Amino acid sequence: MNFDLPPDVEAMCEALAGFARRDLNGPDPFEPIDFRRRWQLAGKQGVLGATVPEEYGGSGLDAVAAVALMEALGSGCTDTGFAFSAAAHLFACAMPIVEFGTPEQRQRWLPRLSSGELIAAHAITEAEAGSDIFNMGTRAELRGDHYVLDGTKVFTTNAPVADVFLVQARTGGGFFGITAFLIEAGNPGLHAGPPYTKVGLRGSPTAEVYFADCRVPLDCVLGGAGAGASVFTGSMKWERVCLFGVYLGAMRRVLDSTIAFANDRVQFGSAIGEFQAVSHRIVDMVAALESARLLLMKAAAELSGGGDCEVSSGLAKVAVSEAAVKIGLDAIQLRGALGVTDGEAETLLRDALPSRIFSGSNEIQKNNVARALGLGRKRPVKHR
Ligand SMILES: Cc1cc2nc3c(=O)[nH]c(=O)nc-3n(C[C@H](O)[C@H](O)[C@H](O)COP(=O)(O)OP(=O)(O)OC[C@H]3O[C@@H](n4cnc5c(N)ncnc54)[C@H](O)[C@@H]3O)c2cc1C
Repeated sequence: MNFDLPPDVEAMCEALAGFARRDLNGPDPFEPIDFRRRWQLAGKQGVLGATVPEEYGGSGLDAVAAVALMEALGSGCTDTGFAFSAAAHLFACAMPIVEFGTPEQRQRWLPRLSSGELIAAHAITEAEAGSDIFNMGTRAELRGDHYVLDGTKVFTTNAPVADVFLVQARTGGGFFGITAFLIEAGNPGLHAGPPYTKVGLRGSPTAEVYFADCRVPLDCVLGGAGAGASVFTGSMKWERVCLFGVYLGAMRRVLDSTIAFANDRVQFGSAIGEFQAVSHRIVDMVAALESARLLLMKAAAELSGGGDCEVSSGLAKVAVSEAAVKIGLDAIQLRGALGVTDGEAETLLRDALPSRIFSGSNEIQKNNVARALGLGRKRPVKHR
């Protein structure tokens, strides 16, 4: 397999890493005005519409180039939460509109989502429907020429700042009883809560979203009535592959500084990198990163080729998130006491912990891969 990037994409990645280093780092924790300021800059730089077709203001990149671009973003932007927010916006909100939107919906939303004028959020998880996602209780009732939504979503990335919400609600029974809606912030029936305080990804605002008698016209339905589950699985395909490029970049950045530290730090008269226990630990970190990267690029190649990347994306998601936790832990250990003071090693570990949970937890990914191997639970899962 050849994952060499075309020279123009290489140049774009290099420019993005430098730009992100200079302009995208922000305060911890999240601060809404500064977040939007950086968001607009990221839009101008082409980050927020990277995979959106050019006719809608994007760059039309394929998934392999998008992973490379996200890797550059993650390496330059030390605020991994901000990079995560940008990637969630692009892959879990804009891409479903690209794939499922009507021409009017694409025209209405994509240019402004790509330019950085708007921020999007995808709300599906509920308090009682996390991994068991299709067990959701939020309902959308058809009343003449509009739907009315009632319910509560939790853990919605970008909710406190979002201008548009992609919302999944139950309109009937079973898999085809879920419908996706595009709902503008400012709708009197939609209210986003305050950001949670999180251990990691603190630059990414996450909140609950409440729907009470939320009326939306029929043209807000994305993908047709009953297509919500397909919209969701389509969005996860993009998120699971391309968003995780951000973590490749963050790991690379911390690995580089760890190697520099091991060459600088002297104990017993020599740089600690000369001790085999230290150098081997670093080699293991490199192996974890490189193997996770290959799995992610393989999944991206499958996605770009239009293949079913269910297994490859699940394996890649597990590999990247576990590598990020491992590299965070090892980078702390190699810095000694300095590792547990505020800094990039402990930040990587904190930012890595949620990556084992979102986009479908690692346990759920393994269930999916097991099922593809003919293993796992045979009983059909019951939904409302
Ligand atoms: C930073 C962050 C951002 C997020 N952003 C969004 C967002 O933008 N939009 C959105 O809708 N959601 C979002 N989520 C929610 C995320 O999708 C859910 O947290 C995730 O699906 C897991 O659901 P849960 O937290 O309810 O855990 P649960 O489903 O309660 O799982 C708890 C534990 O049990 C395990 N488990 C559950 N079922 C099984 C099973 N069948 N087999 C094996 N193990 C199982 C899980 O793996 C986990 O370890 C976000 C989460 C985080 C952390």
